[in-house]
Amino acid sequence: MKIINISNRLPISLQKDNKPAIKISSGGLVSAVQSLSGSKSALHWVGVADFTIDEWLSICPSYSGDFILHPVFIDENLYKLYYNGFSNSVLWPLFHYFPSFVEYKKNEFEAYLGVNRLLAHKIKDIIEPDDIVWIHDYHMIPLVTYLRDLFPEIKIGFFLHVPFPSYELIRILPKNCRDILAGSLLGADLIGFHTYDYVQHFVTTVQMITGIQHKNFKLNYNGRKIHIDAFPISIDFEKFNNAYNKPEVFAERTKIKKLYAGKKILFSVDRLDYTKGIKYRLQGYAHFLENNPGWMEKIVFILIAVPSRDNIAKYEERKEIIEKLIAHINGKYGNYRWAPIVYQYGSVNFDQLSGLYTSCDVALISPIRDGMNLVAKEFIASRQDKRGVLLLSDMTGAAKELTESLLFNPLDEEEICIKITHALKMTDQEQEIRMDRMQKQIKRNNVFNWSNNFIEKMKSISHNSSTPIDFDETGRRSMLNKYTQAEKCLIILDYDGTIKPLQPSPEMAAPDDQLYELLAELTHNTKNTVCIISGRDKKTLETWFNNTKATLVAEHGIFAKTDRWNKLVIDNVPWKAEVQKIMNKFSENCANTFVEEKSASLCWHYRMAAPEASLAQSRELINLLSDFLISSNANILDGHKVVEVKPVQASKGNALKMLFDFQQYDCCICIGDDKTDEDMFEVINECGGYTIKVSEGHTFAKHRFNDVPEVLSFLHELSEINQ
Ligand code: UDP
Repeated sequence: MKIINISNRLPISLQKDNKPAIKISSGGLVSAVQSLSGSKSALHWVGVADFTIDEWLSICPSYSGDFILHPVFIDENLYKLYYNGFSNSVLWPLFHYFPSFVEYKKNEFEAYLGVNRLLAHKIKDIIEPDDIVWIHDYHMIPLVTYLRDLFPEIKIGFFLHVPFPSYELIRILPKNCRDILAGSLLGADLIGFHTYDYVQHFVTTVQMITGIQHKNFKLNYNGRKIHIDAFPISIDFEKFNNAYNKPEVFAERTKIKKLYAGKKILFSVDRLDYTKGIKYRLQGYAHFLENNPGWMEKIVFILIAVPSRDNIAKYEERKEIIEKLIAHINGKYGNYRWAPIVYQYGSVNFDQLSGLYTSCDVALISPIRDGMNLVAKEFIASRQDKRGVLLLSDMTGAAKELTESLLFNPLDEEEICIKITHALKMTDQEQEIRMDRMQKQIKRNNVFNWSNNFIEKMKSISHNSSTPIDFDETGRRSMLNKYTQAEKCLIILDYDGTIKPLQPSPEMAAPDDQLYELLAELTHNTKNTVCIISGRDKKTLETWFNNTKATLVAEHGIFAKTDRWNKLVIDNVPWKAEVQKIMNKFSENCANTFVEEKSASLCWHYRMAAPEASLAQSRELINLLSDFLISSNANILDGHKVVEVKPVQASKGNALKMLFDFQQYDCCICIGDDKTDEDMFEVINECGGYTIKVSEGHTFAKHRFNDVPEVLSFLHELSEINQ
């Protein structure tokens, strides 16, 4: 088994001077993946090359690192459209809640898809059946599905290193584009995010765009279970903690302390990116200086901005804004002996960074949005002396873990000012207590645990890619044989869309004589137990099937009739009146939709309404009801042209489990067409029965019939056997 890691760039750089060599990058992700080599899996890494084929060919024979590298060579112009274009001028701002910075261009989206296709093509030659593929980040979303299409059986994991925003942001994208993005990730077996709020945003987005509902953060799609979970990325704690005593770091720290002797040091380091909140940070600091004249010449703010994506206009603009502001603050508050801000536009090496982390008094980290923010964790880990205060934006993923930091709203200059004052006054004892708690947290959840947890989870997922198979003649014969030989057979039939074609309104779908005749023949055979299981209310089923010797299940498993009607779940529905009011409003506003009231559930049907507008309304309704019903015992079902609210325990799968002892039957056949039939498919699959989905759509069923006539013809065949 190989682990194939795929990210935008390879984990190396080519040293092109007079002694050319391949240098492994020092980032956390690289060492995290490297640490997986302990699991005895060969580690492969695929990424876009930032060097030419000739350079690669001349250097690669000398390379003998842990990774087997697979550079993908992409035309420079195409790469720009994909990277600077769609990835960083659409997805980056959008996922970080900067919708007004989004510059969508169709050709850039096409280039994005094109590069992902090229990567899939490259990976095609590497993959073997038992490999694990791990795809990283927003540049590679479509790749998940391209690989799934090529390899239905392979295990694919995806991790998003940036935030996943609310659906309200995703819906800004053109429809085709957002459908592709949401749909593509469904090719994965495991989708990882930094935090649970990103997980929640993702499952809501999937539901809103595809109608697929999650159950305990698992999605059923095309017969596969997709696991969605939070895996907060971290750092190599020991590396930063041990650096404290490194001679080079000690020297750096001594130099910095000497340079700013008698002053408190505020420190920040980040890529120069609009998401990092540098402008507001500076304004907050200016506010502090304005309000605390006593601190003049007794404080210095060392601000390191690392150049990033400087060929994108928005980044250039930001640099200008920040540099003007720094000049303004230094001019306004500083003098010829003292500059309140010391600014470096350029990167620092590891020893310098550690020197800065360990000599400052306060780390001021204020992204407006950040998927995680590693700088915060690195600062904490570096402080072997357990001194220093972390001021951290509550808009970062790290804020969820580093709760002993001083958290603040990064847009609120007043709060920044208050928090700086608080930090400067914090006693050594309090600093130590806070540091200690946060260090324990980072030590426990270090980056090696992160990669290990993700890969272990991947390994534990049993991959079941049973795309339903249309019955060919052989499959059909084999099922009929099994039925013929069985002494007792359980036949479970959904009603609408399964044994009766869907009609514009529910009351038009009453059974006809032929259907009654067919059911009579099936139930007449003593070896058969026939169960009609429906979302219909019990009154309707009673009226229609009073004279049929079938077990009836109504309202998706709330009521069942064997000899007489019984309630299978407690129908305590205190929410019903309010939900009805909400649904009624939606019916008033959306023509040709209506509310159906059942004894313990309510349905809003939009089968006869204008498709696009009613679909949009159904999304709104689900959104509203999800919040409204948050702590109730109700479940919202996003069905085929219907939104249904019912008690949580009511499901067709549960009802079947309560009614039948499957062991008693040597053949079980279960046919349905709707989402509500999926949980009964899962139950019947478990007991080894035949599960059959009618028509198109994602399903857990093992087989497929195209339409209702095909179901009826099959049931006719059954009815003629062993008569
Ligand atoms: N960093 C760097 N070069 C520098 C200064 C910092 O590579 O000159 C590193 C820093 O140590 C950290 C990373 O850049 O590991 C920044 O990660 P973070 O999650 O904070 O922000 P991102 O840049 O990924 O948005």
